This record gives sequence, structure tokens and C-alpha cells, in this order.
Amino acid sequence: MPNFRLRCLLMTAVFGAGCGDSSDTPPPVTPTVDVEQYSGSGPIHVVCTTNIIKDLVRQIGGDRVAVTAIMDGPGVDPHSYTPSPQDTNALTAADLVVYSGLHLEGHFDGPLESLKHRGIPVICVTGGLSNEQPSRLLQTEDGIADPHVWFDPELWLSCGEHLAAELSQFDPDGKEQYSTSAVAFTELMRTTLTQGVEIMATVPEERRVLVTAHDAFEYFARAFNFRVEAVQGISTESKPGLRRVDELVKLLVDNRIAAVFTEQSVSDRNIAALVAGCEAQKHNLKIGGRLFSDTAGAEGTEEETLAGALLHNIRQIATALGATESAAGEPVQNSNATSQQSGGATEAKDSQ
Ligand SMILES: [Zn+2]
Repeated sequence: MPNFRLRCLLMTAVFGAGCGDSSDTPPPVTPTVDVEQYSGSGPIHVVCTTNIIKDLVRQIGGDRVAVTAIMDGPGVDPHSYTPSPQDTNALTAADLVVYSGLHLEGHFDGPLESLKHRGIPVICVTGGLSNEQPSRLLQTEDGIADPHVWFDPELWLSCGEHLAAELSQFDPDGKEQYSTSAVAFTELMRTTLTQGVEIMATVPEERRVLVTAHDAFEYFARAFNFRVEAVQGISTESKPGLRRVDELVKLLVDNRIAAVFTEQSVSDRNIAALVAGCEAQKHNLKIGGRLFSDTAGAEGTEEETLAGALLHNIRQIATALGATESAAGEPVQNSNATSQQSGGATEAKDSQ
């Protein structure tokens, strides 16, 4: 069993303050907006960390907010990104700062803590999840909470509700709008979940194994009934061992898994090692597609929203792992031809 297999645990009081922590990491930033309320006349200038948070703030804040993100693109890795002096300036110039938390933004603890001391309001969108009892968060065996909660629509809609409540405290005049937006966002997430489950149900159960570069898909697995395996742990800063690569090659060969997946914000190196390892054992492993893991798509694309990025992932995975129906629900006559046309991987054919 991989040493970063996640398990669901009841969170203890260590998470009571906000965005989760383990004993060997710095204390989390207090997630709630301080007593200060917004007193400006125009839209609230919100600076977010990732573009997934930017999407959430837009969905809930609507025209009451003007939002930018520090890590605003599909190729940026929030685990390893270190804020520049310009980023720090942008954070300190904001009316409000919103971040994901649970140590996703591994190098932002210092800057976020310093904002709090300067009296700049900061919201952690996973603050509500951290306080839940019993918790729906997943943890590693080392007691570290998995930050990739956006891949479970039920958890992400809760983050939307939490954000709406926090925004209402900061900007009471917008309370009704935030509350209406949170209801609409809940509906969007539930529709996305239903669509995703329907598409994933077209993949035969024995093929529902998702192998990726880093362990960002455990919530996804729980929501969409998949088994997931990854080369690296929940942070891209963890070091993968050769042994882990060998374990995964064995799993892929033994189970004749057709495809593995690269990620938009993570180097392809470890996935390439899996393909090479399988090739050496005459198992033809394909790259099934490039998934969004820690970021949504570029501005102006369908995948700029979390819902769009999630459905993109689901369609790529279903196609590459051999769905028995197309994403539109029609039967697939020739699964190999369909997969090739759509750029996905075909079912693996082992050489003699
Ligand atoms: Zn990640």
C-alpha cells in the first residue's frame, strides 16, 4: 500500500482555528474576516492566490467584486510557488485577500500572516470545512489534510457557502446577493456532480484506476467512485522514490491499465518514467490526457471555471480508460476508433 494512501479521519481540535495543519508545520492563518467592514464605493478589489479561488470569488461575489489571482494560469504549481515582491505588493494593496488553505499555498504562510498583522482582511475558503465535526476532509497517514477539496463538488459548494457568509460579514450591503449566488453555485456544483457521475459510470468498474503525477485526486476518487494512485504525495514538493515508480509500473502492467495522465501544473517527468517502465515490460501505456489538478484553465476558455475544468478532466479520463458510452451518452461502436478520434488513449494491447 502506498505510504500516502489517504484516509478519512475525524479532525481534532488542531483544525479548529481554520485551515488545517500538522504538528510540524506553521500555525494556520486565522480564516475569518476581522471586524473591519468594507467602506469603499466601487467593487471590492479581491486578490486571490489561485485561479480556482478566483472562479469561486466571481461565482459568489458577482459584480460586487473585481478579482485577480496571483497564480493565474493553468501551468502554475501552488505547492511550490514562492510569492515575488510584486505579489506581496499586490496582496497588500487588496481590499480583501482570499486563499484556499490547508497548506495548498505552501510558501504563502508568511505573507498571509503579515497581512493579518497589517489589518488586511483575509478569507480562507476551506475554513468552514476545517471546523466541521465530523470532518469530510481526507488526511494522509502522517496527519496532513489533503487540500484538493475542489474535486468533490459537495465540498466545494460548502466552500462557496462559507465564502458567502464571510463576504456578508465584510460587506453587509451585499448579503442578499451573496446568499442568492451561493444557492445558484450549489445548484451548479450538484449538476456538475450528476453529470460527472453519469459519464464516469460509463467506464467499466475494473478500468476505474486513475494514475497521475501527484496525489491531487483523492476527493475526486471519493466523489466519482474511482481508485487513484500517484507518483508523488499530496504536495508536488514531496520526493517520489524509484520504489514508488516500480510499484506503479507493476500495478499498471498487472492490471493492463490503458492510460495514465499528466497534469497542467506538474512536470511530466514522473509520468514519462511510468511509460518507459511499462514499455520495458512490453505494456503499451498511453498518456490519456492532460488534467487540471491545482489550477483551472486559462481566462476566456471553457475550463476557466472549476466546473468546466472538472468536466474536462472527467471526459478525458472516461475516454482514455475506455468508456462504453460517449460523453453524450451514446453507445461507443468501436472504442479504439472513438478514442483515437478524440485524442484519448486506446485500451492497452500488450505485445507478445
Ligand atoms: Zn496539488
